[in-house]
Amino acid sequence: MKAAVLYELNHPVIVEDIEMEGPKEGEVVVKVAATGVCHSCYHAVTGMLDTPLPVVLGDEGAGIVEEIGSGVTLVKPGDHVILSWVPSCGHCIYCSQGYANLCLNARKGGRGNLLDGTTRYKKNGKSIHHFAMVASFAEYSVIPQECAIPIDKDISLEKAALVGCSVTTGVCAVINTAEVRPGTSVVVFGAGGIGLNVIQGAVIAGAEKIIAVDLLDTKLEFARQFGATHTINASEVDPISAIKDLTDGLGADYAFEAIGTRTTYEQVIHAIRNRGKAIWIGAPPREPVSFDAGVVFWGEKTVMGSNYGSARPRYDMPRLLALYKAGVLKLDELITRTYRLEEVNEAFTAMLNGEVARGLICF
Ligand SMILES: [Zn+2]
Ligand SMILES: [Zn+2]
Repeated sequence: MKAAVLYELNHPVIVEDIEMEGPKEGEVVVKVAATGVCHSCYHAVTGMLDTPLPVVLGDEGAGIVEEIGSGVTLVKPGDHVILSWVPSCGHCIYCSQGYANLCLNARKGGRGNLLDGTTRYKKNGKSIHHFAMVASFAEYSVIPQECAIPIDKDISLEKAALVGCSVTTGVCAVINTAEVRPGTSVVVFGAGGIGLNVIQGAVIAGAEKIIAVDLLDTKLEFARQFGATHTINASEVDPISAIKDLTDGLGADYAFEAIGTRTTYEQVIHAIRNRGKAIWIGAPPREPVSFDAGVVFWGEKTVMGSNYGSARPRYDMPRLLALYKAGVLKLDELITRTYRLEEVNEAFTAMLNGEVARGLICF
């Protein structure tokens, strides 16, 4: 089968034929219909996100169950599924508390492997890893059954694919992690795939003021289309004072970091008012972040991480699709360009240049 494989950091991804083993116990094979081009995959290319190489990339996809291994009870061949990157076990302490995204058993196979610690992809006898369990830059993905989230068949798999990562990460950071309240003010740093979904999450939550901060005017234009009421180009003005100007000098109630740089990780703490919440969503910078602890202490501020939007995939993903069906969540508008798998490197370039809300590879 055809797959996009990363062999070396900071090198183009190679699209080639590789071998795939059938599913082992508890695993399923999904024929991938579409896969979004996500910044986290690009972070794997640059080494900002650690993953063993070589690796089949792709962390945002949907498809149809083709084959099931022994002991599989959660899905059957023919089911339409979104690929989740957390195989929540359902019974560890975090799953029991409703934090399926933090499942203790989800990474027991080690980074780049399935749950038993091995891979199902090979080339010339050498193993190829699975990126984020999902590895959807491939015609087929072999995943634990817990990663295959069944959805209604009347929703296009191209649209559903985006719910596998960016939509869930962004929208659920707002409604689950931060629990944004109606009538409040929200700032988001970064108007890429995640940031746009934070914006539409804030619209759904009833935020009154939604301020998008980015360095590129093209991305700020996307931000307005998704519901930003104000935009700030941080290459032209100091974003913190611009945010304060828009919020009675106080700062916003919530500030989301959706880029993953040290500067923006620090800025969100200064962008919120007393009792406000700063939420880190972008992949964490590989250098220490520093801020004056007094800002958090005296102002009773909250700094939170949001991993996959605190999502319970089996509950939240169908919930998001229901919001799409109701006309409340935008998915069609996110897909600005579609590609063939062979065009994956061009898709990364367009993403980095801010040319797309989301690029989608269709099979
Ligand atoms: Zn992603
Ligand atoms: Zn668990």
